[in-house]
Amino acid sequence: MTEVKKTSPCIAGSIGAAAVGSVAPVAAMPVGIACINKMSKINQELKPDQFAKVNDAAEKVLKNLQLDKKGVEIVNIKKMENILPLPDKIMEMINPVFATGQGKNAFFTDTEMPGIIKANCVGVNKEKLPLATFHELGHAHNYNYSKFFKCLQKMRTPGMLIAMAMPLFCAFTKDTKPTEGKELTTWQKIKNNLRKFSPAIAGVAMAPTLVEELAATSKGNKAAKEVFKNAPDLLKKAVKGNRCGYISYAASIAGAVFATWVAKKIKDMAVQKKEEKLHNTMVGAKQV
Ligand SMILES: [Zn+2]
Repeated sequence: MTEVKKTSPCIAGSIGAAAVGSVAPVAAMPVGIACINKMSKINQELKPDQFAKVNDAAEKVLKNLQLDKKGVEIVNIKKMENILPLPDKIMEMINPVFATGQGKNAFFTDTEMPGIIKANCVGVNKEKLPLATFHELGHAHNYNYSKFFKCLQKMRTPGMLIAMAMPLFCAFTKDTKPTEGKELTTWQKIKNNLRKFSPAIAGVAMAPTLVEELAATSKGNKAAKEVFKNAPDLLKKAVKGNRCGYISYAASIAGAVFATWVAKKIKDMAVQKKEEKLHNTMVGAKQV
């Protein structure tokens, strides 16, 4: 009789599920890239005198939102030299500050980046993506004037880590089925439930980020409305740009949920296949 270890792990299934789970968020990347390209295009369509108007309006918003009282500044992040042997496109994906210099990102930071920007400031390339400043000032307002939104900002990194960990968790664990006469242990029950709700957990983990992004956008739009009372064209562009940013965040959440769902599906299918094989082997062995 062939000895078959009942508990042998489904290694191929785990690795397959993990690989697909890690690659699946890439599905959301084209949406993100399309969004940032659209934002960049909207900004590049501004006429030379409009760049100055937008940057002046952003300074006004900084004062209107009383962010100057908190020491917030809008820092112009200029194009940086790419010192790594990597193409600019890759650098833009892995380094948000480099991307900002390229006009492909803008940010608010609560931590100092020595030589680049002080803590509690907004970084933007004023010559390339000035319309993004309004949304970032919305983040600055959330940070300085709302404990709730500041708390949501703090949940950003842990939330993303949880969302990234969920596909791997599903790939390297499997549901434990109760065997005759034996109850599942508490840990096994927890693990089964974590697996069952894993896509939802990934989504919920990133939800605070989406809520805070939405608040930043809404504050940015409201502030832009006031300063662009006589410039409806610029207001339209600012609102359009903000919408693009929001869509890219929504896409990354959908990507995380999808990645987790796919990783779980693949692992479950691999486990089922292995169990069927094991069952057939045991039936065959009994018949010998
Ligand atoms: Zn944002």
